[in-house]
Amino acid sequence: MAVSQLDETHDPSRISWVESANGHPDFPIQNLPFGIFSPGPDSPRPGVAIGDMILDLVAVSSLLPDEVRSCLDGANLNGLMALPSVYRVALRRRLSHILSTEALWAEVAPSLFRAQDCALHLPAAIGDYTDFYVGIHHATNVGALFRPDNPLLPNYKYVPIGYHGRASSVRPSGVPVVRPNGQHKGPNDAEPGFGPSRRLDYELELGIWVGSGNALGHPIPIGEAQGHIAGYSLLNDWSARDVQAWEYQPLGPFLAKNFHTTVSPWVVTGEALAPFRTAQPARPQSDPAPLPYLLDASDQMNGALALDLEVHIVTQRMRELRLPPFVLSRGSSTSMYWTPAQIVTHHASNGCNLQPGDLIGTGTLSGAEPGALGSLLEIGRGGTSPIALPGGETRTFLEDGDEVTLCAHARVEGHVAIGFGACSATVLPAP
Ligand code: CA
Repeated sequence: MAVSQLDETHDPSRISWVESANGHPDFPIQNLPFGIFSPGPDSPRPGVAIGDMILDLVAVSSLLPDEVRSCLDGANLNGLMALPSVYRVALRRRLSHILSTEALWAEVAPSLFRAQDCALHLPAAIGDYTDFYVGIHHATNVGALFRPDNPLLPNYKYVPIGYHGRASSVRPSGVPVVRPNGQHKGPNDAEPGFGPSRRLDYELELGIWVGSGNALGHPIPIGEAQGHIAGYSLLNDWSARDVQAWEYQPLGPFLAKNFHTTVSPWVVTGEALAPFRTAQPARPQSDPAPLPYLLDASDQMNGALALDLEVHIVTQRMRELRLPPFVLSRGSSTSMYWTPAQIVTHHASNGCNLQPGDLIGTGTLSGAEPGALGSLLEIGRGGTSPIALPGGETRTFLEDGDEVTLCAHARVEGHVAIGFGACSATVLPAP
């Protein structure tokens, strides 16, 4: 299935009668991300973000295409995600029409809720969560901390590396993260101990939401992989570095990672991101070409995403002093060594069945520059180089009360910029 095409929904001159959408940094009418929300005490339901408002899709279902109506009655988007992307495109076009047609205002406006009055939930019932490791600068930086002589293992440029994470501990933005207890052993400790992690970190990642799945035993060809992606969120893979260092060999991440994962609640569709696709950066000549099952000319030409990524922190002390958020990093999503399509195809290449609503993390997205690092482990060089914060504090790793927020925006000349909304959580003390 080809990458989605541009249509009238991307028209930069299109505006909405929802006035807050026009010029909105995240949710102009060109975005239309899907999510699950509760207006006040009412039950969770599917909605679309438009400016500062959320449109209740159930309430306007009589205006929507027949094929999608039956997918809107649950408290998750799995049914909608499972549809072939052609139906999602039809829904997007209808919503864009509804929200830009002044004559429909009186009929539709009662189904809009102020986002600030709503609770936002996980967009999907997540069956499985897998985290990859495709940020090559992150992999190199972290590898150098753990293995100075051998930062990238020999398989890295052949295999999109990943591990199976835990779906049950994924939470939407806003749910606090409790500092985990765990087993750790510092370089000067004779024996390991058990207690609160002293090296709690965040990881800036993109989350890929699986759309239509594949049957067990039936791989997804690289040329069809885009059609199996329902959309994208931001993802924070909270990490206890001291636990990780002690436990990760020989089987990889376990309790250092699975205590909490935060996602932004809005699913930004591949259709909305169509104007912001770009070529996969060329590999250095000394690197191997992807094996044939991961190589597709169209994917190489426009399968990467050009997103501006930012991480902010606000500490307890900064809150007390009313200081604005401090920018920890600014980078780009073009630092991925493998495209989302290559990730999906590799995951299913052994016949593993992906299912609608499965969540896939890209791995930490660090840029090559010092200001573009996607984790404190890298910024603070493994805890050896504290960063100064406004208000006189320093950090090597996170402290209780710290709030970390991930942001992503897509910007390109000639199109209206769109954003993902916040992926944010505050650290609470260990139990
Ligand atoms: Ca990760």
